[in-house]
Amino acid sequence: MASQTVTLDVRNPRTGQADHTISVSSRDEVAAKAARLRENQRVWEAMGVAERCGIMARWLGEVKKSAMAIGEADAVDTGGCHTSYIQGFITMGNIGGWLEDAPKAFADLEWQGMSSSMPTVEVESQVVAYPVTGVISPWNAPLMLALLDAIPALFAGSAVLLKPSEVTPRVIEALFETVRAVPELAAVFDYVTGPGDVGQAVIAQSDTICFTGSVPTGRKVAVACAERLIPCNLELGGKDPCIVTASADLERAATAVLRGAVYATGQVCYSIERVYVQEEVHDEFVALLAEKAQEVRLNSDNPRAGHIGPFTFAPQAEIVQRHIADAVAKGATVVTGGEVEDIAGGLYLRPTVLTGVTHEMEIMQDETFGPCIPVMSYGDEEEAIRLANDTHFGLTASVIAGSAEEAKAIGKRINAGGIFLQDTFLTFAKLRTFGSDSFGWSGYGAPRIGPESLRRFLRRKSLLTQTGPVADIRNDHHLGEGK
Ligand code: NDP
Repeated sequence: MASQTVTLDVRNPRTGQADHTISVSSRDEVAAKAARLRENQRVWEAMGVAERCGIMARWLGEVKKSAMAIGEADAVDTGGCHTSYIQGFITMGNIGGWLEDAPKAFADLEWQGMSSSMPTVEVESQVVAYPVTGVISPWNAPLMLALLDAIPALFAGSAVLLKPSEVTPRVIEALFETVRAVPELAAVFDYVTGPGDVGQAVIAQSDTICFTGSVPTGRKVAVACAERLIPCNLELGGKDPCIVTASADLERAATAVLRGAVYATGQVCYSIERVYVQEEVHDEFVALLAEKAQEVRLNSDNPRAGHIGPFTFAPQAEIVQRHIADAVAKGATVVTGGEVEDIAGGLYLRPTVLTGVTHEMEIMQDETFGPCIPVMSYGDEEEAIRLANDTHFGLTASVIAGSAEEAKAIGKRINAGGIFLQDTFLTFAKLRTFGSDSFGWSGYGAPRIGPESLRRFLRRKSLLTQTGPVADIRNDHHLGEGK
């Protein structure tokens, strides 16, 4: 009996209506796609990085032609405004950056010379790609977070099987229009659709996994990879703090904190989710922040206008509202915002500033993933650092102080991978420059950005040649056996 295609309806975050459908890939379909990729990967890897760069450059040309269509699809998927329309251009920057960096990354991994521990042995390196890299990506920034891993994996010589979130599939469909225009790339880059068990099917067929998503799902992915004894790179959540000292320029601090907390409706892994302000400037800072927060406009009238869009994933609005309610029940004050609004079916929250918060509240402990800015006052520097480090997470942190030196001294004591000083949201400055590791529950594996991130998709072999006489076991002497 022929198996029936299972489909899933996809909600539009601006209307609340299901206006799109995806078919759920069966385990057999996932296995068949992986087998095709595995077969084609041998040619892809054998052609070498220079030839792959030529093919990726052609893909860059296709993405350029479709950059606006990709942005439109992202806007429908996520409800984003300017955050969506730049996605095609970010993809171009990602491919273009690796066109320059990938050949050098390979050259840096090559080594040939005589062994220092056995001087008659010549050592030569060989790097080989993992044949199939599985990429499992989330619904926030669905294109960028899929491609941050997929693009370097392809440059490395891996084939890539992508499983995007079922919540935001449209932008991946638009992207694959460009992939299909480059047949050599389409031979080694494919995607499957559906919910979490399709992600598990991808793990079952892959040789290494890159996962971006929540902590609970990350644990399941790590366990499944451990059972198969394949490596996994996890990019998980955050509860990122920002410290504002009494010496800071408060105008600058409030502007930077607002953007860092509400950009893309706060649905960013490195959003600021906790703010600690020195007590003598707390009230002045909150007044400035609230004033600026009230000037942030929703994009409900026009997706291309406004500053923030609706929640991409409707259940996230419930989590955010629950965090606010829990904080208020435990004594917090909502200074501005605070209520999720249903506007023509889209669920929106205006920037929400809260004061009087404590670490007993969910909003200071668990990832909120919404445009909320809980502000807490602190006494001295020691207390600020203790509060910032009082978390399971460690993705990024920000410090805004009277001088860069003062900010850096505090930043060096915070347990997080990226420390932003005198501003927020500086993650993009690390691209192509220098990667960093996640602390705690925010993930593990080698850095996903920076030149070394290509290494995640490569295994290094050593070819060891004996150029001198071989050892004769009959002449081996054991310690203590001296003549
Ligand atoms: P989820 O963990 O819910 O999902 C991530 C992906 O995993 C989706 O494609 C999902 O499919 C899939 N999935 C679900 N269950 C399983 C399973 N059992 N096995 C394999 N795959 C599965 O994350 P969200 O989509 O909700 O994304 C938001 C989270 O991502 C936040 O916690 C955020 O902080 C984090 N994130 C981390 C970043 C980082 O770089 N550190 C960057 C951005 C986001 P489906 O959606 O179809 O169910």
